[in-house]
Amino acid sequence: MKKLLVILGVICLSVFSAGFAEESVSWEHRVCLECGGEADGDFCSVCGKPAGAWNCSACGTENLTGSCRSCGMSREASLDVQASSGNLMTAWPAVCYLAGQSRPDALVSLAHYYELGLFMPKDTAMVLSCLQLAADMDYAPAWVKLGRVYDQGELVTRDYYKSMECYQKAADLGSVEALWYLGTFYEDGSTVRRNYDKALEYYRQAAEKGDADSLMSIAYCYAEGRGVERNPDLAMEYYEKAAEAGSSLACDYLGYLYLSGESTSKDVEKGLSWYRKAAELGNSRSMAALGYMYQYGIDVDPDPAEAARWYEQAALAGRADALEALASLDAGKEK
Ligand SMILES: [Zn+2]
Ligand SMILES: [Zn+2]
Repeated sequence: MKKLLVILGVICLSVFSAGFAEESVSWEHRVCLECGGEADGDFCSVCGKPAGAWNCSACGTENLTGSCRSCGMSREASLDVQASSGNLMTAWPAVCYLAGQSRPDALVSLAHYYELGLFMPKDTAMVLSCLQLAADMDYAPAWVKLGRVYDQGELVTRDYYKSMECYQKAADLGSVEALWYLGTFYEDGSTVRRNYDKALEYYRQAAEKGDADSLMSIAYCYAEGRGVERNPDLAMEYYEKAAEAGSSLACDYLGYLYLSGESTSKDVEKGLSWYRKAAELGNSRSMAALGYMYQYGIDVDPDPAEAARWYEQAALAGRADALEALASLDAGKEK
């Protein structure tokens, strides 16, 4: 923990004081807020901007002082937007800065960089320290992440009981994700004695708060008769609730159910529309399935151009089989 505080201190002092040093501190780890490069003098050695310069995320103006001179946005607010950009490269300088301000969300992000070894060496002890620091601030996502670490057992020795403890802490702090994980422990039954009633209790608690994964799990329990009497109609109802709550998996599965006519009457229009909805939500399996249907004319008229369009989307979303299908489609065209 001491090591973490020292490092955070260095990042904090260096970023915070960059360009505005009140007193002399060690500047060797100064992170350029603009590009994430290291500034070893008054200027960034990578992009050449003065150390401490930042780009306003609202209007794009380059600034050196605490608030944007064009729109008035504060440096903190701007870095906040940058840190949550979802792009690890872009977010890095902002994450450093905000973690240095002891922001629990930024500490969880910083843990992720230590886990990946991105911009710094992989360091499991630091991952755990960052997460624990944020968790001790009653930040539920940090407890969930700690739960995942002990559950997966990649960074540390797997410890299901510790994992459940972390999830319970997160659940007590209002995390629906944690409730879902706890439910899966009881449904799965490999760690604790299987107890479908208890699993459903957790799923229902989370579902009441609109958790799509839990709605999906309840649907599955009704489909399989786990802890409840098997009820395909209720299962469909819960799949639809999960889909409405934004689960792309539920949309994809509904598409499959309507197209296969499995456990409901076959309805091609409905099936296609659920697949399209799933694809809109980024589900690559649905994209590939649509490509396949249009390639071979299954339930639709064959349409190679439409097939190619879906395969391309699926491949861009990371599906290797769609990339192969796209290539074979192109090869067929050239013949
Ligand atoms: Zn730079
Ligand atoms: Zn601005």
